[in-house]
Amino acid sequence: MSNKPLISARDLSVHFNLRGGLFTPKLVLKAVEAINLDIPKGSFFGLVGESGSGKTTLGRAFLKANHISRGSVHYADGEVEYDLQDMPKSDLTEYRKRAQLIFQDPYAALSPRMTVRDIIAEPLEVMGITKTREETDERVREIADRCRLNLEHLRRFPHAFSGGQRQRISIARALVSSPRFVVADESVAALDVSIQADILNLLKSLQKELGLTYLFISHDLSVVAHICDHVAVMYLGRLVETAPTRELFSAPRHPYTKALLSAIPSLDPDNAGNTQKLEGEIPSPTNPPPGCKFHTRCPFAIDICKREEPKLETSGKEHDVACHRWKELADEPARAVGKKPVNKKSKNRTKA
Ligand code: SF4
Repeated sequence: MSNKPLISARDLSVHFNLRGGLFTPKLVLKAVEAINLDIPKGSFFGLVGESGSGKTTLGRAFLKANHISRGSVHYADGEVEYDLQDMPKSDLTEYRKRAQLIFQDPYAALSPRMTVRDIIAEPLEVMGITKTREETDERVREIADRCRLNLEHLRRFPHAFSGGQRQRISIARALVSSPRFVVADESVAALDVSIQADILNLLKSLQKELGLTYLFISHDLSVVAHICDHVAVMYLGRLVETAPTRELFSAPRHPYTKALLSAIPSLDPDNAGNTQKLEGEIPSPTNPPPGCKFHTRCPFAIDICKREEPKLETSGKEHDVACHRWKELADEPARAVGKKPVNKKSKNRTKA
């Protein structure tokens, strides 16, 4: 893995206008807000958070599948560079060859009317990558083989396959254009646990063979711990913590990250029942609370949290956190967060 970022986002925001006209008030959904993030080349970068935290919207913005309302996204791979925020349409096809998506649901992602060969070949034909049928067939066979698909499967239709095999077909389709950057959006969430391991191992070995960089979007932290080398945690469209995986799992700083980690089931009887339930729902992105967006659910919230939004600041090597109180809370064990709300009159409290 290189330290150079393949994708860099600066102050990236994605907003959607839900309504607004002559007689109706404007309603803006702020799905992603002021994201600063570098995805190192060759990394398996995890993006975690609850449903509604903006993970998918951020991933789609990196693919230029969503508009960018503010800020910038820069892609740099050797000589090839793109600025996604003002990319001309003529560059979009070229960028799509380099940045691809693996869908969550392998049942919905594949057309039931097309053979596996045609499904995998479609991007080659649409993007004009191959010129002749022989060339297309050769490339399809090559990527099918890499994705551990039997060549005789190419003549069949998707209904003949299990979930795991279908996901291999989806992966082959995403990789047939030889991308460098792949967004895997909950790509194993719809699969049985035994099949999940198989697909994760396939993604990992394809990363080595093809030099891929992944953005792995997931709500399953145990999967992320197993496969990712970096993790970013999102809450209500903002990044609240980023760190190398080992660092984040051993020394989480943000109360939200600690709550997510405490929800991972444990086989250790000492930890049984020692989990923090996240109270309440994630607020609406059309009407986010002021200050820290997590303050409505955070057991450690104090006055400043309700007024001022914390910035993502460095708390160690490559470890960034957005919390006014991360230093005071550093020693709070992950599995006890929320169990002992800090006394508001505590001397250790940050001055509001
Ligand atoms: Fe909790 Fe305040 Fe930190 Fe937000 S800034 S996570 S409300 S302690």
